[in-house]
Amino acid sequence: MDDSLNNDLPLDEDLTLPGITEGEILVIRSTRRKKSSSAYRQGGRIVISIPARMSKAEESQVVPELIAIIRAREAAKTPQESELAIRIDQLLSELAPEITERPLSVTWRPMRERWGSCTTVDRTIRISDRLALAPSYALDYVLFHEAIHLRHHDHGAEFTEILARFEDSELASAYLDGYEAAERALADPVELKKLRK
Ligand SMILES: [Zn+2]
Repeated sequence: MDDSLNNDLPLDEDLTLPGITEGEILVIRSTRRKKSSSAYRQGGRIVISIPARMSKAEESQVVPELIAIIRAREAAKTPQESELAIRIDQLLSELAPEITERPLSVTWRPMRERWGSCTTVDRTIRISDRLALAPSYALDYVLFHEAIHLRHHDHGAEFTEILARFEDSELASAYLDGYEAAERALADPVELKKLRK
């Protein structure tokens, strides 16, 4: 075997970093970057661009720091769970006063496959954290949808009639569809390294 062929292979496949416990993190080693690093949100991912020549030791310091900054900024713009519960109460009072049930808890969850879920037995509502920075009409639409499930378990005629009272439902559906289409379009580029949880 010709050892010189190995020179083109990645040197280090151990990509586990401390402080990363959720979500997907993509680290790009950019040959255009000399010293600076940057991070930004792309759909459900945080993408981090670091200089190609950065050492593994430095990477394991810089990457968690950038992730923490991004998450702190997002947290500042994200409605509190208590605000979600208040919003559900407002939406039901205004649009569906016949539904008197209220959730016992409303929580953000890292859900990638669904926008929200409602468990009627314990009256808990979970909202995908992909909506954390969504426009209010899209978040309201999902909150209202799940809140109707407190009374109507399926998507039958009664459910549909109540949901239709939400004015911006077409706009909200378009936002959610567009978000999902963008996520599907974000195929993993081959030059990116994906970090495991
Ligand atoms: Zn539903």
